[in-house]
Amino acid sequence: MALVGPASGGAVARDVLEELAIASRILVDQGVFDAAGHVSMRHPSAPDRFLMSRSLAPALVTADDIMELSLDSEPCEPPGRQPFIERYLHAEIYRARPDVRAIAHGHSPSVVPFGLVSTPLVATYHNAAFLAYGVPVFDIREKFGATDIVINSAARGAALAEALGDTCVVLLRAHGFVAVGPTLPAAVFRAIFTEVSARVQLQAATLGGPMAALDAEEGRKADAINLATVGRSWELWKRRTTG
Ligand code: MN
Repeated sequence: MALVGPASGGAVARDVLEELAIASRILVDQGVFDAAGHVSMRHPSAPDRFLMSRSLAPALVTADDIMELSLDSEPCEPPGRQPFIERYLHAEIYRARPDVRAIAHGHSPSVVPFGLVSTPLVATYHNAAFLAYGVPVFDIREKFGATDIVINSAARGAALAEALGDTCVVLLRAHGFVAVGPTLPAAVFRAIFTEVSARVQLQAATLGGPMAALDAEEGRKADAINLATVGRSWELWKRRTTG
């Protein structure tokens, strides 16, 4: 008998798989993902399962490439297809944060500097309101010493999830960032505006002087509006990747 993984949480509608594949391509189109980067969503009917592409360049992902995994990062399918080595990052955040239903992880170039220096990433404008909840930096050295930097074990994933805490975005020192959300479009929106706001902050810094970013209360209020209207952005981004 062939070895099989953990049981599936149940069939997932084809259009849900399509949306997740589209999310991957949107994040490439918007300059957040390059040849690397991955986005996942919690299984719609099984909270202890999640969906993400097999290990593949994000621009190439289609619905057929989506795998189902358990929160132990085990594929719910017979051996064969190669999952991402950083699937632990997704699994451990889903385990730690029941409110999170989608996660994006990338290495976009405007964000990386803020994981290297002590200057915090701030919410420069309303689209980036979610950054006003705070943006912790996860330094893998603190717990694991000199590593290959990637989140390729449950222990590393759990430490990252702990660093994320209750916020929406965590930076990974010398690596990239993770954005989470209550829906797939929300996580994609936050990943995109983490990158854009980082770019705006770098530009504002060249002007000198203090940075009058959104404070926590403004952030909460503007984030609520963004979450209520994210569908409009989603439809546009989707159209751009599907023609
Ligand atoms: Mn990575």
